[in-house]
Amino acid sequence: MSDKHTPVQRHRNMAAIHSASTKPELTLRLALWHQGFRYRINDKRFPGRPDIVLPKYRTVIFIHGCFWHGHKDCKYYTVPQTNAEFWKAKVARNQERDQEVWRKLEAKGWSVIIVWECQLKKANLEENVARVASEIIRNGEAYRAAQEERRKAREDYLRERKERKEREQALLKEVKSL
Ligand SMILES: [Zn+2]
Repeated sequence: MSDKHTPVQRHRNMAAIHSASTKPELTLRLALWHQGFRYRINDKRFPGRPDIVLPKYRTVIFIHGCFWHGHKDCKYYTVPQTNAEFWKAKVARNQERDQEVWRKLEAKGWSVIIVWECQLKKANLEENVARVASEIIRNGEAYRAAQEERRKAREDYLRERKERKEREQALLKEVKSL
């Protein structure tokens, strides 16, 4: 059968398919939206362009295909027997890239949640959405606690500086009056 598409058209089609939201992503987004979470999607400003960004909770979510990202002990991650070494190397490279992305995000204070596609199948969707939701909330609480700590530390610093200056001025006054 001949392919009626020109290479350019074909490229466009492939790009459209690639960038369109896949079903597991949509499933999770909708479930989180219904629980009241608000988020941005595929934010290019973040390393690895996370599938879901929840600024309020300082959390990003990646939805990973079990095969491409090598979900350990998952039935959806089986290396084809043909060219096994090639596939293993490919998945290993993806995993290395994933680690690098997480490291960068965590260095900036973002929590990273990985959701595997197999966790979004109908049978275990509810349970996993609940788990993700509570993890998001925990991350949000930890983030606000850390912010509060930083705020207090700054207040302490400013108060101590003010007190030190006052002591210095009082001392200066004493010296001058001698
Ligand atoms: Zn899996």
